[in-house]
Amino acid sequence: MKKGRQLYEGKAKKVFLTDDNDLVIQEFKDDATAFNNKKKGTIAEKGVVNNAISCKLFTMLEEHGIQTHLVEKLSDREMLCRHLDIIKVEVVARNIAAGSLVKRYGFAEGTVLENPIIEFYLKDDDLDDPLMNESHAVALGVATFEELSVLKKRAEEINAILKQFFAERKLKLVDFKLEFGRHKGEILLGDEISPDTCRFWDLDTNEKMDKDRFRFDLGGVENAYSEVQKRVLGLD
Ligand code: UDP
Repeated sequence: MKKGRQLYEGKAKKVFLTDDNDLVIQEFKDDATAFNNKKKGTIAEKGVVNNAISCKLFTMLEEHGIQTHLVEKLSDREMLCRHLDIIKVEVVARNIAAGSLVKRYGFAEGTVLENPIIEFYLKDDDLDDPLMNESHAVALGVATFEELSVLKKRAEEINAILKQFFAERKLKLVDFKLEFGRHKGEILLGDEISPDTCRFWDLDTNEKMDKDRFRFDLGGVENAYSEVQKRVLGLD
């Protein structure tokens, strides 16, 4: 399998074609952005750490019956993936109030949500990824009602699996973002799951162990990411 031309460069990853039409290579960068690109920086070795964490989590989810785009980890920064037709919907699952939930609805940060909240956002940087409901998504033509109900159900299943996985590693899974894509008539989980796309709080101290350390200049960003990697990979 040969790495071909670059298909796309995003904020945290590059995607390359391969000589197999069905496969792409996702390459993780150290670049970090927040607040829709208004804050930029780099986090040393983030690409290596996020690739390792994502590959482990996608493998674990596959073992629990969730179909994902992961084929195999190719190298430190590269993940071989099935080529998806990405659905332009960001699916956020929340277990504890933080981030935009606090800002938008006035929840106290840290409020435990008895029922997880699932939200849809339009994947469109120019529009600042607006929150939307099913009718908006269908009117915009980004997904069908049937697909959206699959996304919601899949996000709930993934949340239940990840919540338990992280609890065993002394991390609270506060919230996270998922992306899905179409592939041969199925909907597969795509993108990544990492401290860039999740909020993790230490189970005992509530210390933030994710991109919020970068967003709000809390310091110790690299240490937090590598501690999450250690906990994710350290236990089998
Ligand atoms: N998130 C993400 N990409 C985005 C927006 C959100 O990965 O474009 C993740 C974010 O890291 C957090 C969760 O989704 O774990 C919920 O984010 P929120 O809506 O609170 O927005 P934020 O505070 O990140 O702007």
